[in-house]
Amino acid sequence: MEKRVWLEKRGRDPAKIRELNLDNCRSTSIVGLTDELCNLEILTIVNVGLTSLKGFPKLPNLKKLYLSDNRINSGLNLLETSPKLTRLNLSGNEIKDLETLEPLKNFKNLISLDLFSNQVTIVENYRDAVFKTIPSLKYLDGFDKNDRHVEDSDDEVDWGEIFGEFEESEDWSTTDEEEEGNSSDEAETPEGRINMEKMQQTLKQQNNAEDSPLKCAVCKHHLSISPIVLNTVLGSICGRDACKRLASSQGTNYRQKAYEGLAKVLEFPCMYKENGCKKVLPWNEIGGHELICEFVKL
Ligand SMILES: [Zn+2]
Ligand SMILES: [Zn+2]
Repeated sequence: MEKRVWLEKRGRDPAKIRELNLDNCRSTSIVGLTDELCNLEILTIVNVGLTSLKGFPKLPNLKKLYLSDNRINSGLNLLETSPKLTRLNLSGNEIKDLETLEPLKNFKNLISLDLFSNQVTIVENYRDAVFKTIPSLKYLDGFDKNDRHVEDSDDEVDWGEIFGEFEESEDWSTTDEEEEGNSSDEAETPEGRINMEKMQQTLKQQNNAEDSPLKCAVCKHHLSISPIVLNTVLGSICGRDACKRLASSQGTNYRQKAYEGLAKVLEFPCMYKENGCKKVLPWNEIGGHELICEFVKL
């Protein structure tokens, strides 16, 4: 990690660095990060193998911290030297109980917390308890206290990241025939691999196949509400509450960030389409509509 920090600094004055990305380097604890990064606002240390936050520096201006896909199970008090945190992502770690989350009560500005794919999410009363512990919290795992989903408005789509991840992930964006045909040509341009027009067409088709890759394996509605995860037991799961709960109770969940990024540019039909609703709305709007859709069967 030390070397990666050095590389990422690219010779800059540490006090002038506002964002630092250490994703995918290997380390079990924090090394090479120092208090000199006094103006750092965004730090991402995803999928590094961290087992503890030992060595976490004093970052007085840190606002967003992404620690997903590590093996952290305790020591959240070590983050207290970053009191301005508004957003903390700990999804895919090994946090087992509510006591471990206690130190987070001291973060007066924490608005959004992500604990998806941690055992603590299946503890009884998990959501209520966490909202109670952290009074400033508005969104837990992407949903507010009333289970209303809220889309992050400040998360811009990073196309480079999306296409990069996409090539490694399970490829549902092209059919098997296309893959066999001319995969070497397609690999050169991302546009060739991910045919957005076709994806949009598939979404609007009258008769989607039951096994459509764009549908949730549990509720069979479109994957139109985040977080979208790939569950090792169930398959692709949407962020509708019941599905989300089922997915966090079994298997391992892999957040499909790449898909979510793509889905942001697509339009989805309302889940009550069969009941007669004709609404087709963008990803970040269809979830809200479905909650008030007049075609809901009671
Ligand atoms: Zn679902
Ligand atoms: Zn509707």
